[in-house]
Amino acid sequence: MRHFAVIGSGPAGFYTAEALLKIYGERCLIDLIDRLPVPYGLIRFGVAPDHQSIKAVSKRYEKVALEGHCRFLGNVHLGADVSVEELLHYYDAVVLATGAPNDRLLGIPGDQLPGVIGSAAFVGWYNGHPDFADLAPPLDGRDAVVIGNGNVALDVARILSKSPQEFGGSDIVGHALDALAGSAIRTITVLGRRGPHQIAMTPKELGELGHLNDALPMVEAADLPPAEADALLDPGQRKSVQHLRDFAAAGADAAKPKRILFDFFAKPLAVEGEERAEQLLVERTVLDPDGSARGTGETYRVPASLVVSCIGYATPAIPGVPYDEHLGRFPNQNGQVAERLYAVGWARRGPTGTIGTNRPDGFEVAEQIAALFPADSEGAGRAGGEGLDRLLRSRGCDPVAFADWQMIEAAEIAAARAGAPREKLVRVEEMLRAGGH
Ligand code: NAP
Repeated sequence: MRHFAVIGSGPAGFYTAEALLKIYGERCLIDLIDRLPVPYGLIRFGVAPDHQSIKAVSKRYEKVALEGHCRFLGNVHLGADVSVEELLHYYDAVVLATGAPNDRLLGIPGDQLPGVIGSAAFVGWYNGHPDFADLAPPLDGRDAVVIGNGNVALDVARILSKSPQEFGGSDIVGHALDALAGSAIRTITVLGRRGPHQIAMTPKELGELGHLNDALPMVEAADLPPAEADALLDPGQRKSVQHLRDFAAAGADAAKPKRILFDFFAKPLAVEGEERAEQLLVERTVLDPDGSARGTGETYRVPASLVVSCIGYATPAIPGVPYDEHLGRFPNQNGQVAERLYAVGWARRGPTGTIGTNRPDGFEVAEQIAALFPADSEGAGRAGGEGLDRLLRSRGCDPVAFADWQMIEAAEIAAARAGAPREKLVRVEEMLRAGGH
């Protein structure tokens, strides 16, 4: 028998478990370990609540978890409850699928002022992440700024713009829905330090902004390159840019009280305010021949009582594991970090790509593991999950099993049936109580 530990039960973790099961079948036991008491990582806490079709992939992961040779152990903290060194002692291989849950910092004056929030925190808040349940983002002003031109910036701008009715069928948490319903925000400026051709927004997600009940997306025609230049773009990017052209061509719509203003060639210099964010100091940029943004020295101010920076994420370091501060992830060779230690997904590649991009990662690392330990070879006699269970018991750590999670999920669904909207149990203790733990 081979014993594998996968740390993190988001997409990358589940795809790795699926790949290992495909190779080893009944000759392996996999423990999927998560610091949270519930599985699915980014699917539950990162994907936007109004994108249920993307979240549906968790049904595939559920099948893996219910396969007899894979266990979910929630509420187990790597570093605090068990070390990587200990895991390597119990398991043949350890795979880090810890994602990139930390916000990259803006690193400009004023970025610590109240009202400046990273997207991990803001997205976690509306998705019911236990760490961010008490975030209470300020929604009392008229102006918000969203920094970044990626899909997360789009998610945040859309969530800030939607009317309560437009969250029907979503699983946005009640506290966020209530707060957003009372929001005074009317203008959401989406700030990009480069231009329309450099956006990292996918066409489907950008197109959604054109169909909001209350908000009108607005683009300055002067910011758009000549239309013939679009021919050089790849087809997906061309479609995205076409959406921007459509937004620029559309007239005003007095029936829509909110505006999403795209401000391109705009680099944030400082957040200003007495006791909280009040405005953003911005520098106009031009593109250098290598495609990077260069400040022109021309500055202006954008009012903002809420600033959400959506500029990317970092993987937290883990004691005992090599870490690249600059890249914000584990240095690796095709996924291998050290002997018998691997990384997959965002912990391996950085925070890029779609959910499905993690699948080949998991399969590649599983194949590397299989090259080291052929599927038909004898096991090394490691203690695996039994050893870990003994260790965790001795430390008073009581993991949450997949069956507990199923009870938590049932409690959530029952709560939803008792009264809309679907309410997620955001606090760990609540989750554990609901799970009869
Ligand atoms: P992203 O796609 O890397 O976009 C980050 C944005 O932040 C870029 O526009 C970048 O501009 C900008 N930026 C970085 N540092 C900055 C700074 N210091 N000042 C101003 N702007 C800065 O990251 P993301 O939006 O966080 O998304 C992460 C991944 O998740 C992506 O692969 C994304 O497609 C995926 N995702 C997908 C969906 C979906 O499919 N529905 C939803 C959400 C996220 P530069 O280009 O100039 O660096």
